Amino acid sequence: MAFTLSPLPYAHEALEPNIDAQTMHIHHGKHHQAYVDNLNKAIAGTEHESKSIEELVKHAGSISVAVRNNGGGHWNHNFFWASMAPNAGGIPSGKLGDAINQSFGSFDAFKEKFSQAGMTRFGSGWAWLIVKDGKLEISSTPNQDNPLMDVAEVKGMPILGADVWEHAYYLKYQNRRADYLAAFWNVVNWAVVAERMEAAM
Ligand code: MN
Repeated sequence: MAFTLSPLPYAHEALEPNIDAQTMHIHHGKHHQAYVDNLNKAIAGTEHESKSIEELVKHAGSISVAVRNNGGGHWNHNFFWASMAPNAGGIPSGKLGDAINQSFGSFDAFKEKFSQAGMTRFGSGWAWLIVKDGKLEISSTPNQDNPLMDVAEVKGMPILGADVWEHAYYLKYQNRRADYLAAFWNVVNWAVVAERMEAAM
């Protein structure tokens, strides 16, 4: 079964003004679609054709560069769309809020460290909040790698990810990655992040 692009879980304009509709149209409809198409091309007629995206991503480093880049791209973007929502943001409460405070000192300190991971990722990549050995950690990966991959420097179960490729913000924010990352906090779907943490702990 070939992989397919799922529709966004909300309207393209739903994250305005934090993330603009045009960026969402191009990011989802063109960039994510291209990862799906190129992943399908890379696995067509091979033993990998019947594998799940999780299975492909986990072993990406030993399969091929095309699967690493495009399988990573497909998994990461599905995860990213679900990490955001309209009328979201704010400060996480409950177990997730407690875990963030315990791991990073405060929510503000967490935000600063996460944003720093995104800001210091040279070129294209991702900033992540992960569960590693039952604890929260922040990491970043280059290109379309992610913390599930065999090739990841820091491995763990991602519970939040921010795309810091220029295609994620350039139309609205141009070179101002910091402004994009500041706006990202207004659309983080903490309910989903909390569910992911529960599942990973
Ligand atoms: Mn992207």
